[in-house]
Amino acid sequence: MTAPRVCDVVVVGAGAMGSSVAYHLAAADPALEIVVVERDPSYVRASSSLTAGNVRVQFSLEENIEISLYALAVFERFDEQMSVEGQKPDIRFRPEGNLFLHAPEGCAGAESAMALQRSLGGEVEWWAPEEAETRFPFLESEGLVGGTFGPLDGHLDGYALLMGYKAKAATLGAEFVVGEARELVTRGGRAKGVRLETSQYVLAPIVVNCAGAWAADLSRTADIDLPVVPVKRQVFVLETPELFDQPLPLTIFPSGLYFRSEAPGMLLVGKSLDDDPEGYSFSWQESRFTDLLWPELARWVPSFDRLRLIRGWAGLYAVNTMDGNAILGEWPDLEGLFHANGFSGHGLQQAPAVGRYLAELILGHEPTLDLSALGAERIVEGRPLAEGGLV
Ligand SMILES: Cc1cc2nc3c(=O)[nH]c(=O)nc-3n(C[C@H](O)[C@H](O)[C@H](O)COP(=O)(O)OP(=O)(O)OC[C@H]3O[C@@H](n4cnc5c(N)ncnc54)[C@H](O)[C@@H]3O)c2cc1C
Repeated sequence: MTAPRVCDVVVVGAGAMGSSVAYHLAAADPALEIVVVERDPSYVRASSSLTAGNVRVQFSLEENIEISLYALAVFERFDEQMSVEGQKPDIRFRPEGNLFLHAPEGCAGAESAMALQRSLGGEVEWWAPEEAETRFPFLESEGLVGGTFGPLDGHLDGYALLMGYKAKAATLGAEFVVGEARELVTRGGRAKGVRLETSQYVLAPIVVNCAGAWAADLSRTADIDLPVVPVKRQVFVLETPELFDQPLPLTIFPSGLYFRSEAPGMLLVGKSLDDDPEGYSFSWQESRFTDLLWPELARWVPSFDRLRLIRGWAGLYAVNTMDGNAILGEWPDLEGLFHANGFSGHGLQQAPAVGRYLAELILGHEPTLDLSALGAERIVEGRPLAEGGLV
């Protein structure tokens, strides 16, 4: 049998989150021996590859707003800061804006969320329906009371973000190994490492579960019932007959239907549907677009009744079934086991702040951003901390 690999920290999953945790740990303490275990370095199924890549300050929880404000600052400098031997990643961050359109019943919540976002330094404008139509004459605003527009919000390439963190972490000494963590190893209420599919052990006093939509499977091996399930979400790519003279912001209708420009003459469209299935399925169905999304889209943007469906894809949200928010930090009953999971569709933009926060917790440093409200204690104690309807 292969001898155990002994290190200081083992991270399971090298998506955007695991790679960010590894980077922040290695940057903070170069002496730390960090091993990151990833079973699929092609990332074909990782959510960080299959993401829509949006970042927005338009949340209603203070923690989520602060996390996004930090991300916006990081994304501006990311390519420069993560350069390795002169090679810069290219995350293609495009601040093309986010426009949330509101129906009367969502108006009060949107206004109070906007007040909070602004009080924390977020840039968000209130648009009356006429203003939305003036800026985007193709929009049909009947039934809307207005929109909240975040001009600095935008989108980026999730795979490039992941690879940027991974390359920099590796340069700083983190070791990335290909393998599947089959079991958490514990003894006397303490994490001791993981057992891989090869039966090799990677032993460490700190284990970080960054396994994304697969996180609950790993935690279950230590009898932890993590309320995180994989839910299939589909994204569609469409060609538009008209070429707009500017990129269209991510525009979100009251039902959650969204679209944005992907390239000139090309749109991304999606919506989380109540019957999106749980499980590890990656097939996409064009009928989801043609039967369910298209009629609604054409009602709001009549000229979109002439779109051409080019392709689509499906990826997994790691849905926190308790409150739809991240689960961050050490598990209350198992010393040394940390989680960064349950991002429920907004985790890409959370990778910078969460990576830094986990590193600070693990190293015993004072957190720069207090994210303790998102701690695992609330899960164990049954205290949900949900967004106010904006997700
Ligand atoms: C269609 C879609 C649209 C999205 N849109 C947005 C958006 O607009 N904005 C936003 O912020 N977020 C969005 N998200 C969510 C975001 O992409 C995720 O929250 C984020 O990428 C999660 O990163 P992660 O590293 O936790 O997970 P992943 O990227 O999935 O990485 C987890 C990794 O763990 C590995 N792994 C799992 N189990 C094991 C094991 N036992 N052993 C070894 N390796 C293992 C997997 O192979 C995987 O590579 C979207 C997601 C999807 C699917």
